[in-house]
Amino acid sequence: MFETEINRYLSSHHLAHIRLRAVLFDMDGVLFDSMPYHADAWAEVMNRHGLRFSREEAFLHEGRTGAATINIAYNRQYGHDAPPELIEQIYAEKSAAFASRPEPGRMPGAPELLRKIQAQGLVPVLVTGSGQRTLLERLGHQYPGVFAPERMVTAFDVKHGKPHPEPYLMGLQKAGVQAHEAVVVENAPIGVQAGHAAGIFTIAVNTGPLDGQVLLDAGADLLFPSMQALCENWEELYRNLSAV
Ligand code: CA
Repeated sequence: MFETEINRYLSSHHLAHIRLRAVLFDMDGVLFDSMPYHADAWAEVMNRHGLRFSREEAFLHEGRTGAATINIAYNRQYGHDAPPELIEQIYAEKSAAFASRPEPGRMPGAPELLRKIQAQGLVPVLVTGSGQRTLLERLGHQYPGVFAPERMVTAFDVKHGKPHPEPYLMGLQKAGVQAHEAVVVENAPIGVQAGHAAGIFTIAVNTGPLDGQVLLDAGADLLFPSMQALCENWEELYRNLSAV
């Protein structure tokens, strides 16, 4: 299994092999089952400000920075970007609305996958567009000792958010590895685009309501229906990533 997908990646990137050393994880919808709450919060706060924005759109645009997400709705209605003060206000309200919801749990399959990865001596790196301190703090409680602070890329670190490759390129840099020495684990189309644009083998896990084809069209090299499925297939995938 997986040889076809791996070989397709290698030939399109003119590479002879992948030498896996680091695994770059997105956070929302990958490590935390937090996306339904984010979607609710986005729709509620945008609508409160007279901006049309649905829960489904929140999933489609997942991974964009707060400002980029707000400007998608604002541009559609007003033909230009929102004033910076409004962006700040809406994002603060959205963060508060998210924080008022129940604490999101760990995504099933994610803790076990991380244990496997650490046992193999691979370096886990966090690459998120989130700037929500509640979630970033929760990472330390729910995944203790997994992500070292110097191996985390958040909204505070980058100039360009996903789908720009910068967050994942910075993740590689923080891990001290090259593109062919890592894989990306992502659940959102925009995150998949970012991983793909960074030249990294990108594994999509479809943990939300979107059609899986959207993730393949965004450039995913492999698609799993859940984190559990990726976890169950990890040994087989790792063997193949190391063999070629
Ligand atoms: Ca995500």
